[in-house]
Amino acid sequence: MLSKRLLDFESFEVMDILALAQNLENEGKDVIHLEIGEPDFNTPKPIIDEGIKVLKEGNTHYTDSRGILELREKLSELYKNKYNVDVNPNNIVITGGSSLGLFFALSSIIDEGDEVLIQNPCYPCYKNFIRFLGAKPVFCDFTVESLEKNLSNKTKAIIINSPSNPLGEVINKDIYEFAYENIPFIISDEIYNGLVYEGKCYSTIEFDEHLEKTILINGFSKLYAMTGWRLGYVMSNEKIIDAILKLQQNLFISAPTVSQYAALKAFEKETEKEVNNMIKEFNRRRKLVLKYVKDFGWEINNPVGAYYVFPNIGEDGREFAYKLLKEKYVALTPGIGFGDKGKNHVRISYANSYENIKEGLERIKEFLDENE
Ligand code: PLP
Repeated sequence: MLSKRLLDFESFEVMDILALAQNLENEGKDVIHLEIGEPDFNTPKPIIDEGIKVLKEGNTHYTDSRGILELREKLSELYKNKYNVDVNPNNIVITGGSSLGLFFALSSIIDEGDEVLIQNPCYPCYKNFIRFLGAKPVFCDFTVESLEKNLSNKTKAIIINSPSNPLGEVINKDIYEFAYENIPFIISDEIYNGLVYEGKCYSTIEFDEHLEKTILINGFSKLYAMTGWRLGYVMSNEKIIDAILKLQQNLFISAPTVSQYAALKAFEKETEKEVNNMIKEFNRRRKLVLKYVKDFGWEINNPVGAYYVFPNIGEDGREFAYKLLKEKYVALTPGIGFGDKGKNHVRISYANSYENIKEGLERIKEFLDENE
């Protein structure tokens, strides 16, 4: 009875493990959550205070479908300061989270039969959205050789996610250069941009300041710990923005009003201070996870951003994760949900307190010792 379009739409692996973890908690078990993909920090105080103020003032109606001009102007200033580029506020649409931005971006350029290159492994919703639109997700390694091999005359776009979920890695310059030379559209999911602890993380805007081929997606969920406020944005050229606006008007009218006004406080010094403290703490936790993972003898990747580590554990990641959860009450996300390259991997999220992460890692150590 369900629509054929939804047949290929897979639910998130992390939700299944989370459901089991919650069942165990309901039985009174003390579960350590290292599977969750959202910051454990509170939204910075200036943003919360502004949200309350906006509500009390009764500023609770629809906004322009593009989003409020003040916020788009702030974003334009941000990109000027950070990358020295001039983005017209009219080239920005505020969306209900970057998730919607992604769906709008794909919907605005994808036709049935098109192919979209995505990284193996990557954020699971990419393949779902692509298939939903009747197109084909083409999983590849993000090396120039692999991209070259997978390029075809049906390739319409590539989705680049840097820093990436689940790898926590940043994407190298040669991948951007290859993409801009060879692929019609570059969709760049930069939701973890800013959460980088080592080295340089590029934004696509550095390769295409006039947004000719770029659809840049970002949002407030991760860097400002605002997941529940549902606020993101898309930047692109006029043609794409016009197409996205049509979708926004028909599907959502506008992004949440209170969130848009509250987010104006994301650019204040006081917020910046809170965000910087959060970044410092994420890095401290990252180092802790890396130390343990190395001790476990797991093959480690190069996680320098977001809040994930994605080790190869040398055995089936799903079986490992479920056994670990049932025996030691530590929840990790099986890597297979992100692509078949993740089969022998687990994703460890360090969006939990230092103490909880340490306790979780100690339990994994015990589990490994017992199962040697
Ligand atoms: N893109 C990636 C890579 C993510 O990991 C997530 C959430 O986990 C999102 C997008 C969605 O973020 P938002 O809350 O802005 O919709």
